[in-house]
Amino acid sequence: MSKIHENLDVLEKQIQAACDKCGRKREEVLLIGVTKTRTADEVNEAVAWGITDVGENKVQEIMDKYDHVPGDVKWHMIGHLQTNKVKYIIDKVALIHSVDKLKLAEEIDKRAKDHGLIAEVLVEVNAAGEESKFGTDIDGAKKLIEDVRTNCKNIKIKGLMTIAPFTEDPEDVRVYFKELKELFDEYKDIKDENMDFEHLSMGMSGDYAVAIEEGATMIRVGTAIFGARNYNI
Ligand SMILES: *Cc1c(COP(=O)(O)O)cnc(C)c1O
Repeated sequence: MSKIHENLDVLEKQIQAACDKCGRKREEVLLIGVTKTRTADEVNEAVAWGITDVGENKVQEIMDKYDHVPGDVKWHMIGHLQTNKVKYIIDKVALIHSVDKLKLAEEIDKRAKDHGLIAEVLVEVNAAGEESKFGTDIDGAKKLIEDVRTNCKNIKIKGLMTIAPFTEDPEDVRVYFKELKELFDEYKDIKDENMDFEHLSMGMSGDYAVAIEEGATMIRVGTAIFGARNYNI
């Protein structure tokens, strides 16, 4: 068995165990394979073993790999997105997880309109208020959601995303996942042309089990599938 296949088998069991523990169904949680720094061949291998959705944090990597990953794989932009790069990926990605400013939303709206599509996005919340991370705070998220709803007709807000702080003990970040779930619940019943909360994107290799227990509908997992990343190659 290849390493990726083996890792996916282990991960799948652990996701199932986390779902069982809190009484959720496995289908309620989408596993996004985070393929940053990985080759298109590695992406294709993960797809062969069942990954349907892949996450990248750089526009360039999506551009480089996109044509080399055939089939109906869904691409997710999970990293910080610069306004001037929206045009390169607007028609390639299924979901942009990292909308944290109106200026970015307006550019996404404009480019989506050019392509005659409705862009699906998540609002990125920096729940722990870490300076090193992008994302808005809770109040900023509420304001941004209202601004996008009034100004950006070619965007549909599908939910929220957060990146928890890195900690040795994933229990330490449970509080941030709870906070995001509370915010999610405030919006989940308001459905219109511009808003349809379905996705709560939280949880990575170190903390996905806790995120699932706190209500994540999407987990973004790289290292636990592909091994440790080497940024020097
Ligand atoms: C890299 C990355 C992940 C995956 O991290 P792992 O710890 O390797 O699972 C998830 N979300 C975002 C936004 C990332 O940049």
